[in-house]
Amino acid sequence: MTEFDRLRVWGDPVIRRRLGWYREVAANRRPAKFRIAATIPLERALDAAEPDLWVELERLTPIFLERWREIRHDGAPLGPKAQGPSLLELCRELALRMLAHCNFCRWNCQVDRSRETKFGACKLGAGARVSTWFHHPGEELVYRGTQGSGTIFFTSCNMRCAFCQNGDISTDKDNGELVDGRALAAMAWLLRMEGCHNVNWVGGEVTIHLHRIVEAIALLGADFTPSREELARALPTKSDRFYWFDADRANGTYEDAFNAPMLWNSNFFMTPEAMKILRLLIDVWLPDFKFGPGECAKTLARTPWYWETVTENLRLIHEWGEDLTIRHLIMPNHVECCTAPVLAWIAANMPDVPVNVMDQYHPDTFCDPRSQKYRPQYAEIARRCTAEEIRSAYAHARARGLHFESITFERASL
Ligand code: SF4
Repeated sequence: MTEFDRLRVWGDPVIRRRLGWYREVAANRRPAKFRIAATIPLERALDAAEPDLWVELERLTPIFLERWREIRHDGAPLGPKAQGPSLLELCRELALRMLAHCNFCRWNCQVDRSRETKFGACKLGAGARVSTWFHHPGEELVYRGTQGSGTIFFTSCNMRCAFCQNGDISTDKDNGELVDGRALAAMAWLLRMEGCHNVNWVGGEVTIHLHRIVEAIALLGADFTPSREELARALPTKSDRFYWFDADRANGTYEDAFNAPMLWNSNFFMTPEAMKILRLLIDVWLPDFKFGPGECAKTLARTPWYWETVTENLRLIHEWGEDLTIRHLIMPNHVECCTAPVLAWIAANMPDVPVNVMDQYHPDTFCDPRSQKYRPQYAEIARRCTAEEIRSAYAHARARGLHFESITFERASL
């Protein structure tokens, strides 16, 4: 049994049940979903018309799900890789096709990002930028474990949260370094071989970089091993590169090929099409659920359709039997309009899902009164939460019977 397996948090039966697949993949007792997708052959050529490729994805998804079920519940063997193009490569191809009429997220801008002549709400072209990547010691215990969460931070975002706690990377689309799929795969590969328990795709926002991330995952499923030159090129943005980590293939292989749980750490503003691709690749989901059903997502984040989009995506992954935990950030003056309905919705729709009710809000980006970027219209959130607001948020969670204490208060119980 590994140190990760011995974490006390696994003694919690709800955590054990809700994150069972993730734990098995993290410990390399099961192959990650992308490895399963690589075993399923296509019947159509990858240069077929996009609608035909979607039909092929729909046809293969039940086959994938049955194979996943057999591996997950019956311990069935993974089986050989597909001869020729696989479902994994179909995911990569479809994400690339979507880029030409971008509908990665609910803005559904329909701009051709590959041409870089028109831009959508995220203002991005075809390029993806990584601000930093490292063994994250600050994620929830189930994700940071003993060796850290293998976190890759992308720049830019499709929302405009005035209080963004990562405003330096989410509001500056030119922050960080341009990366291609091989550079991203090299980062993920090294983090995992150095012992990270997962590959944590995060931003800014990750959905807007879907094509690059899926390209990297497809490479990792095709026996990618970075060259020395590729590692050297990626290293300057690795913020913990001056620390020593023992890289060992045993940390990240299943049947002698790369293996790691893929973690989708996102604002959950994806389209149904993006969800169909991610369903086949993501082993564990970490959605933010911030705003209630009123106007707060518009006034604080300039984001319409927030409630219906995020709740629909949450409902989907729950119905699909996916592993997940939800994060909710308590915001000053927004306990009754945001925290209460968010927690009530979770309790009504997925009471068995662990929730992190987070109290670390601080005024940042456009609502920090000490900053030159401060905008007075955000005065209502230009302070930390009071103790009373935090107590009230926890009281809502308790009154709804949510499973939140073992994740929210884990540092106090270590
Ligand atoms: S990722 Fe979202 S915001 Fe960006 S162009 Fe595509 S649909 Fe628009």
